[in-house]
Amino acid sequence: MTLAIGVDVGGTKVAAGVVDEQGRILAKLKRSTPAASPARTEQAIADVVTELLAEVPPDQLTAIGLGAAGFVDSARATMLFAPNLAWRDEPLKQRVEERLGREVVVENDANASAWAEARFGAARGYRDVMLVAVGTGIGASIIIGGELYRGRWGIAGEPGHVRVVPDGRLCDCGNRGCWEQYSANSPGAPRKAP
Ligand SMILES: [Zn+2]
Repeated sequence: MTLAIGVDVGGTKVAAGVVDEQGRILAKLKRSTPAASPARTEQAIADVVTELLAEVPPDQLTAIGLGAAGFVDSARATMLFAPNLAWRDEPLKQRVEERLGREVVVENDANASAWAEARFGAARGYRDVMLVAVGTGIGASIIIGGELYRGRWGIAGEPGHVRVVPDGRLCDCGNRGCWEQYSANSPGAPRKAP
């Protein structure tokens, strides 16, 4: 049996699990995200992975993956921007690898979700898929012809920051009136009408 460790890094929580090749979750744990500090967020990621590593026989571990809530560059190494975390051009892959002494794979969280649904869940068997993920913000992912569509900069499919209300609520991304300020649990804006 081969196993992987996956970490979902969101604006409010870090959730991690050990998963087998059939997509079954064998162990999981959760921490709140110290979202204001890139270093503390990276340490929280390293901590949950370290804790789960204790439950995985070393010869069965094939990969460690991070699904992170933010704009991942096309090289899948740097967090260009994260509206609900403090990452700005943060070399996330390198920073977590330094802490763990192991290789990790970084992916946008919605992309990772869509890929999981296509492999094991609701989108199994489909080659063209769109997933909209509503959490702290609104993420999305597009699979076309069985491949993740990343777009020119690696950040295709981010509808949460499409403006739906001109001069609307201020968003953590710096713009006003973003969709996720009205239809998600973003902490960045007041809950009252503009
Ligand atoms: Zn926004």
